[in-house]
Amino acid sequence: MGVSRHSVPEEVSDPVTGFSSLNVVWRLIIGFTALFAVTTSVSVYSMVKLNQFNKASTYMLELGDRLIEHKERLSDALLSELSYEKKYAISKDPAFHDGFVKAGKDFTKNLAGASAIADTLGSKEILENISKQHSRYRALIEEETINGGPGGSRRPGWYRQEKEKAVEAMIEEIKNLQLYVEDDTKHRIDGLAKAGTRALRIGLIMAASSLLIGIVIAAGITLSITRPLSVIKRKTRKISSGNFEDPLDLSSPPEIGHLARSLNLMCDRLKEAERMKSDFFSLMAHELRTPLASMKGGIALLKRDVDASRSQARDKILAIMSEECNRLIEHVNSLLDLSKMEAGIIDFNFAAGDVKPIVQRAASEIEPLYAARSITFEFHETGEAPPVMMDSERVLQVVRNLLGNAVKFTPDGGRIAVFLKSVAGGVEISVADSGPGIPAEDRAAIFDKYRQSTTRAYSGSRGTGLGLAIAKHVVDVHGGRICVESEMGRGSTFTVFLPG
Ligand code: ADP
Repeated sequence: MGVSRHSVPEEVSDPVTGFSSLNVVWRLIIGFTALFAVTTSVSVYSMVKLNQFNKASTYMLELGDRLIEHKERLSDALLSELSYEKKYAISKDPAFHDGFVKAGKDFTKNLAGASAIADTLGSKEILENISKQHSRYRALIEEETINGGPGGSRRPGWYRQEKEKAVEAMIEEIKNLQLYVEDDTKHRIDGLAKAGTRALRIGLIMAASSLLIGIVIAAGITLSITRPLSVIKRKTRKISSGNFEDPLDLSSPPEIGHLARSLNLMCDRLKEAERMKSDFFSLMAHELRTPLASMKGGIALLKRDVDASRSQARDKILAIMSEECNRLIEHVNSLLDLSKMEAGIIDFNFAAGDVKPIVQRAASEIEPLYAARSITFEFHETGEAPPVMMDSERVLQVVRNLLGNAVKFTPDGGRIAVFLKSVAGGVEISVADSGPGIPAEDRAAIFDKYRQSTTRAYSGSRGTGLGLAIAKHVVDVHGGRICVESEMGRGSTFTVFLPG
């Protein structure tokens, strides 16, 4: 039998970093946020463009309408100005002069209004020409009033001709303004339509790419979750068919990583359990075969030699057979005890009682064993041990096991000491020996079933590794503690605490 140890760590640290360390919730949040951001940017772009078109077309139409309106008013004002001028020239009625002045002001006002909203070089130029011609027309009228008489420097009819030229130029430019505005509006609409087509194309490209990005993100997230899951699925199939090899090493979200590490841990435990099972079976087979073989030999001898005169030899054979039977029964009982305890179907008969007689009884039982091997036995009692609530038979079983082990592992001429101490809250029983000690790495494991250390036994059979597991169960049921202190080459001390 080799050494059985717990070699499996409880938790494996998480080595993954970066995207692999993101858990499923964060992956989904990031994925959906990215999708949302892409879709939102497409929508925002479309809305901004739509708004721009809306503003541009409204502005364009309004601008055109207002320019045309000003142009109409300019024509009206110019016509009134001309008609008042003519009427005043004939009648010299000051009311017509007033009308002329007012129409001139109207003209200038509308010209200023039109210039304020004109936003192209062409319209500005036309309006400037109109303004220039108007100023010339007014200047001609003023000059005509001063110099237009018969003694004036100009030939007759010159002022009329020049005024007509200025007016015709104005009428022509006003017409040009109308044509220019119409043409400009058309141009702008064309430009808008082209920009609209371009924006539509960009919008479509953005929508298509956002769809593509969405599909890639969704596929990436889904695969990063489902791929490790299918690896785990395959692994569990292998486990179910008894293959515990090839531990999983996944790059996956932490939740799935934990699952994979738990599976690896489970595999290690199952492997360990499998090994322990086969160790135990070979041990049990050996332990059962040895007494059975010696009993078989004994029976064969008895059958051959039934001569009453040799009864001394027969008694010896029977004694050996009975001893082997007892060993077998002891083994089977230990097995049964432990499995019943583990199943929780063993009854404990608790009653208040003293521990000292139990310890003394167990010590007297093993006296022949230690006496035969010149082992010194000491019993020390400190304080009056209070009565404890216990199942005395089970506590006796525990003490027997500890003393039995002490004798088994103590060399001839060694020393065993039992201490019974009254301590705060209960009683402490310690069994110390001068045996080889127990390696530090085995000290916790020996309380598990079928666990044995490498320590060499000096007497008796090698044992089954069940005694301390049963003792621990019993002590636990009593609400107590069992532990061991040991120093290699100096001995071991097992201590049981039972609450009072
Ligand atoms: P068993 O003695 O039948 O093997 P136990 O559960 O009583 O089973 O003990 C488990 C193991 O603990 C032993 O096989 C032995 O290796 C170690 N052990 C127990 N008691 C002692 C002791 N007093 N000194 C050294 N080793 C011990």
